[in-house]
Amino acid sequence: MPEAESAVEKVVIIGSGPAGYTAAIYAARAMLAPILYEGFFSGIAGGQLMTTTDVENYPGFPDGVTGPEMMGFFRKQSERFGTKVIQDDVVSIDLSVRPFKIEGKRQSCEAHSIIISTGAMARRLEIKGAGEGEFWQKGVTACAVCDGAMPIFRDKDLYVVGGGDSAMEEGLYLTKFGSHVYIVHRRDELRASKIMGDRAKAHPKVTILWDSVIEEVSGGSVVEGVTIKNLKTGEVSDKAAGGLFFAIGHDPNTKFLGGQIDLLDNGYIKVKPGTTETNVAGVFAAGDVQDFSYKQAVTAAGSGCMAALDAERYLAAQELVHA
Ligand code: NAP
Repeated sequence: MPEAESAVEKVVIIGSGPAGYTAAIYAARAMLAPILYEGFFSGIAGGQLMTTTDVENYPGFPDGVTGPEMMGFFRKQSERFGTKVIQDDVVSIDLSVRPFKIEGKRQSCEAHSIIISTGAMARRLEIKGAGEGEFWQKGVTACAVCDGAMPIFRDKDLYVVGGGDSAMEEGLYLTKFGSHVYIVHRRDELRASKIMGDRAKAHPKVTILWDSVIEEVSGGSVVEGVTIKNLKTGEVSDKAAGGLFFAIGHDPNTKFLGGQIDLLDNGYIKVKPGTTETNVAGVFAAGDVQDFSYKQAVTAAGSGCMAALDAERYLAAQELVHA
């Protein structure tokens, strides 16, 4: 059984990406002595930025910064003001009692308020050549906005997998860098909204390859080619390619909530518009776990700040700030 700590925390933050650490910085500076669970259930602690190389779109870093370096800064800044970071996965929470109960694999605690910032994981396909130790992050990525401007993609044919709004948006974004962008979709009809689909179809540098899948990625030190199969005709072709981008959706990390928080139909946490409030008073959500639209480090950080301010207001209204 995990060991329970006796004191009730004012704020417990679950998740260690930009949203979680920013919430921690604000909560700590508001003298709320936050606890932040830095878990490993979605991979390495620190969130998706830990698997990103250069971050060049986060304001304040004119020369860019690596993802891990930036998350190190976030963590250090949160600790500077007294955040206690616990390296543990939260396995479940109990919102039916007050204070709430948070159960980690090794350490559990009780809290008057909770900020959920567990993020989302970009889906990846298990294609030959696309995995870790192969061409993953050597031309294969799951985030065109994060990685598209890298020199390896310049003036090359780029391939995007997916048929949703993300694939259209990322495909259009990549036209700035690649010589041509091919959107590879497994069906003959897009899932994307009409406006986004029409925009992609009308772009002279975009071609949609219908009923098609990527079977293999190949190259030397970086991606140099892809093998594409047309599912209707069975035709297989090898094409020169500088990059492969998965845009097949994200999975928000909400399993540990056990159905206690209202989710949207797409699985993301439902928050009251313009706030980070969930359907349970005292529980707030920030970052990609509640954002299926923007999904940027800077927007996650912004919503982490909002969650800390929302939690502080909630605690003040409940007269729990000095509890
Ligand atoms: P999505 O709408 O779920 O689309 C995922 C796409 O990936 C689908 O076309 C799907 O194919 C394909 N896919 C899934 N698994 C696959 C697999 N194993 N192999 C090949 N293809 C696969 O996800 P999304 O595009 O990330 O969008 C998520 C949400 O964010 C949506 O609500 C979207 O409207 C919103 N969004 C909005 C904007 C915007 O308005 N600017 C931008 C981005 C995202 P099928 O179609 O065959 O299922």
